[in-house]
Amino acid sequence: MTRSAARDDTQHDSASGGPGAIRHYIDGQWIDAANGRTYDSHNPWTAAAIATVAAGDADDTHAAIDAAHRAFAHWSDTPPHERQGILLRAADTVERRRDEVMVLLARETGCGRHFAEVQIRFAVSLLRQSAALPYAATGQMLPSDQPGVSSVAVRRPVGVVGAIAPWNASLILSARAIVGPLAVGNTVVLKPSEEAPHTGGALWAEVFEQAGLPPGVLNVITHAPGEASFIGDELLANPLVRRINFTGSTATGRRLAEAAGRHLKRLVLQLGGQNPLLVLAGVDLDYAVNAAAYGAFVHQGQVCMCARRIFVEEAIAAEFSERFAAKVAGLPMGDPEDPHTVIGPVINHWALSLLTRRVEEAVERGARVLAGGVPAPPCYPATVLTGVPDDVELAFDETFGPVVVLDVVGDRDEAVARANSSAFGLAAGVLAAGPQEGLEVARQLQAGIIHVNDQPVNDEPRMPFGGVKDSGWGRFGVGFAIEEFTEPQWITVRHKARQFPF
Ligand code: ADP
Repeated sequence: MTRSAARDDTQHDSASGGPGAIRHYIDGQWIDAANGRTYDSHNPWTAAAIATVAAGDADDTHAAIDAAHRAFAHWSDTPPHERQGILLRAADTVERRRDEVMVLLARETGCGRHFAEVQIRFAVSLLRQSAALPYAATGQMLPSDQPGVSSVAVRRPVGVVGAIAPWNASLILSARAIVGPLAVGNTVVLKPSEEAPHTGGALWAEVFEQAGLPPGVLNVITHAPGEASFIGDELLANPLVRRINFTGSTATGRRLAEAAGRHLKRLVLQLGGQNPLLVLAGVDLDYAVNAAAYGAFVHQGQVCMCARRIFVEEAIAAEFSERFAAKVAGLPMGDPEDPHTVIGPVINHWALSLLTRRVEEAVERGARVLAGGVPAPPCYPATVLTGVPDDVELAFDETFGPVVVLDVVGDRDEAVARANSSAFGLAAGVLAAGPQEGLEVARQLQAGIIHVNDQPVNDEPRMPFGGVKDSGWGRFGVGFAIEEFTEPQWITVRHKARQFPF
C-alpha cells in the first residue's frame, strides 16, 4: 500500500488497519525518505508490524521547510472563508472516518475505546472552533501624538511553524500543533512521534488533503526511533522556520529550548507533569474514589494530565485507601480493541521496563503496594503505592504509565505544600467538601490548570492549556493561537509631509 494513491485508496488503506507504508507528505506529494530508509511500526498489544514508515532526516526536513515557505505567501493571503471552509471540511472528514480512526488509534498506540472517543470528539471540535480563527486576527487603530499620522497594529502570521508532537494522545496533540497555526495563516512542518507516525502524522495529511488544503501548506516528516533530533535540529536551525510548538517530555523540551535560545526562536512548550490530586476531608468518598481512579488510570496513565500523586487528608485516609485500592485492583486489563478494557498495553517495552524499575526501586526503599505492582507484558497493571520516599524517581519525576503514589497528609495546608514542592506545574485536581474550599485551595496551587471537585484530566479546545515551572511555557488553545502564532506589526501612514530637523 502506498499513500500516494488516489483519495479513495488512502481511505481504504487506513480502514484496513493492516500492513502498509507511511511516507512523507511534502508539497502535496507522498514520497519516500530521500535516503530510502524505512522502519517498522508495531502494534503495542500484538507486537505485529503494522506499517513501514519513512525514516527521514535533515534533507527531507529541509525540503519540507522549503515547500512550506513557498506556500506561505499564497496561504497567508487566502481569504478567511476559504481557510474556514477547509477546517470545516476537515472536521467532517474526521467525523466520517471515526470508526476507522478508532481502530488505528488502538493498533498504533494501544488506545482504548473511551480515550479514542475523547480524542475524536476533541479533534472535531477543535477544527470547528478554529474555523472562526481566520476572522479573529484583528488589529487596532492606535491614537498617535503626531498630527496627520494614522497608526495601526495588525496581526501577521509568522511564516513556517515547526510542530513536534508526542504519541500518547496522538490525534489531539498533533491536531492542536497544526490547526491553530494553519487557521491564522501559517504553513506547517509536522513531526509526529516515531510511535504514532500514522494517527499523529499521515492521517492529518490525508484529512487536510481531502479537505482541499493547497500543497505545501501542511507537510509531515517521519523518522526512525532515536532519530528525532535530525528533524528537530533542522527545524530549530533553519531560519525559514519562525516558531516551534512542542508537546513532550521536560528533558526534550529543555534541550529544544536551549537550542532555540541560540537561534532566537520562540517556542510553545507543553511538557511533563507530576500532577497532584488533593482529597480533602468532607468529600463524598465514592465520588473521590471514582475520580481518582479515572484521573490516575485513564489511557493506562499515559496522559500528561494524569494524577501521579494523591494527597489524602489523614481523617479519611484509611477508608479512602481501602476503597480506592479495591477499585483499582478490579480494573479490567487487556486488548485495547475490547470495549471492556480499561488498562491496555503500555506503548513499548522501554516504558514497561521504566515502570517496573521505578516501582521496584520504590518498594526497595520501603513503599507498600496497595494494588497492582506486577508487570503483565505488554501491560502494566493499575498500581497504587504508598509510603514512597520523596527522593525516589517515582515520587518526584513523571512516570508515564498506570502507577500512582498515595500520600497521607495531616491537613489541607500540608497537602498544598507537598503538591507545590514538585518541580512541575501542569495540572491539579482538588476534591473538597464544597466548591468554596476547593477554590481557596486552587488559588494556592502552582499549576497551569486546576479542576475543583474533579481530577486533573480535562481538556477543551478553547481553554488555555499549558503549565508553569518545569511543565513549560506558552499556551495551546483556540483562544491563544493568535497570541502564540501571529506577530503584531505596527504600521503608520503619514498623510502629509513631515518637517525633518536636518
Ligand atoms: P515522550 O516521552 O512523550 O515520548 P519525548 O519528549 O521523548 O516524550 O517525545 C515527544 C516528541 O519529541 C516526539 O515527537 C519525539 O520524537 C520528539 N523528540 C524527542 N527527542 C527530540 C529531539 N532531540 N529533537 C526534536 N524532537 C525530539
